Amino acid sequence: MNAIRLGLVGIGKIARDQHLPAIAADDRYALAAIASRHAQVDGVANYPEINAMIAGTELDAVSFCTPPEGRYAIAKAALEAGLHVMLEKPPAATLSEIEALAALARAKGVTLFTSWHSREAAGVAPARAWLAEREIKAVRIDWREDIRRWHPGQEWILAAGGYGVFDPGINALSIATTILPAPLFVEAASVEVPAGRASPLAVELQLRCGDAQGRASFDFLQTGPQTWDIEVDTDAGTLRIGMGGSILHLPGEPERTEPDREYPRLYARFAELVARGESDVDVSPMRLVADAFLLAERRETAPFSF
Ligand code: NAP
Repeated sequence: MNAIRLGLVGIGKIARDQHLPAIAADDRYALAAIASRHAQVDGVANYPEINAMIAGTELDAVSFCTPPEGRYAIAKAALEAGLHVMLEKPPAATLSEIEALAALARAKGVTLFTSWHSREAAGVAPARAWLAEREIKAVRIDWREDIRRWHPGQEWILAAGGYGVFDPGINALSIATTILPAPLFVEAASVEVPAGRASPLAVELQLRCGDAQGRASFDFLQTGPQTWDIEVDTDAGTLRIGMGGSILHLPGEPERTEPDREYPRLYARFAELVARGESDVDVSPMRLVADAFLLAERRETAPFSF
């Protein structure tokens, strides 16, 4: 089979840290072009924006690593050109946008993949299998990281449509919606938004999964050790997922840790979807964020600067 001729759009932190290395290591892909307003990538065609890239280079697929706000228009351009599309999480700024993109992909007969990298963490699939047999008693999510360390200077993240602390928090929700055997609901939410910004730096959610209560705490101002943990109490003890899904602790078993292969697995999954002519569009983590914003009590806090 010929390699998928891929265009990559938005050469920022995650494109350099993860996408470019994962693509280079997978011979199912040939990186053919990039579109970036600022960056250059050696050895491939460079364009300032997507329409020039689509017009200038023969492509089969495009992968998007821009912020969610503004993704809709550029993903639409790729789908309209008959190209397969992979989207970084969160897939778009709104649910209506992603629904429209899914319909367009169907109409064009191409693949749309809304990627959720945290679901590819090593502990997630075994956690899902273990929880499938259990009665859920309680769910606790603690996702606390340092915005200045992981998102230096990313002003967009605190703008409208940037998701704020839901940008990392949605990773936790992507894991929770995968591993829990019953649908998850937001029952109450409070968000703390710094003065002069549109998106929150801290969020508390009251959750329900079946008959079980749950809670989630997302914080963007945690310095020192970082926390990306989920605990699920069950009739057979407590399951713990740590470090964003790479550590799994099942009751009575030693802790399992495996190296990070999230992005190689995402690109493998995208290649399989393209080969099978299928799409994978799951908005469940994003819908919980939207529900949280619908329900949220909002509190203004002190101004924030990077
Ligand atoms: P970033 O470092 O700010 O890079 C985003 C890139 O998108 C920019 O460098 C820019 O590239 C392009 N861009 C296009 N329109 C833009 C706009 N209006 N504002 C800012 N940049 C714009 O962000 P990132 O951390 O890579 O995050 C991008 C996406 O990946 C987000 O959806 C995020 O949730 C996801 N993600 C991030 C991480 C992480 O650790 N940072 C991890 C997993 C997923 P050009 O100059 O090339 O146009």
